[in-house]
Amino acid sequence: ASRNAGRVAQAAIDSIRAVIDRDVDELGRLDAIAGDGDHGIGMQRGVHAAAAAAQELSAAGAGAGTVLARAGDAWADKAGGTSGALWGAALRAAGERLGDEHHPDAQAVADAIQNARATVQRMGKAELGDKTMVDAIVPFTDELTAKVGEGQRLSAAWSRAAERATAAAADTAEMLPRLGRARPHAEKSLGTPDPGAVSFALAMTAVAHVL
Ligand code: ADP
Ligand code: MG
Ligand code: MG
Repeated sequence: ASRNAGRVAQAAIDSIRAVIDRDVDELGRLDAIAGDGDHGIGMQRGVHAAAAAAQELSAAGAGAGTVLARAGDAWADKAGGTSGALWGAALRAAGERLGDEHHPDAQAVADAIQNARATVQRMGKAELGDKTMVDAIVPFTDELTAKVGEGQRLSAAWSRAAERATAAAADTAEMLPRLGRARPHAEKSLGTPDPGAVSFALAMTAVAHVL
């Protein structure tokens, strides 16, 4: 197993923990407009459990695949809620595809993220335009795959993809939710972005700074 890649995975999850800690109240406020208001605390519970698991595993020399997969299990276990199950499964899917190879290249990382996206879509059954985190994940993944395919370095490709995700999350403000807890209060959410899309974009922007 590669200690280096495991440490990068651990640092990535820790950067997500930091940004969720910073914006926990704002994410709760967004979720309270048409949902049940627990998105901030749910993300916080999940990412704290994931960061603790990642810390322990990377310190023990685990590779990136193991760090991500086990962090995902901890996240799903502790977060509760729809987003927690999806984030947990996404991290596990990314870890399984990445494996514990010594030096995964940019293409291997892009493939791992594609596997995470596919898992979220298979589990949640959301489509583009349903006003969920999928509306940020899909453009993120598409951009990452495209830029890596053009030969960009991972850090540059990821930064560009995070910018796309941020813009896409903002664009969900004009959508009406068709799934999840926000659906019965769909019209109330007009003008407010989807909390899960916003938290995904925040997380990917944070990770861009550690790559
Ligand atoms: P809960 O809705 O169970 O309270 P959270 O508040 O933590 O869970 O997460 C809400 C977010 O989950 C939504 O903003 C949306 O982005 C995402 N979400 C809800 N349902 C789905 C789904 N079927 N597929 C993908 N994402 C979803
Ligand atoms: Mg909620
Ligand atoms: Mg809830």
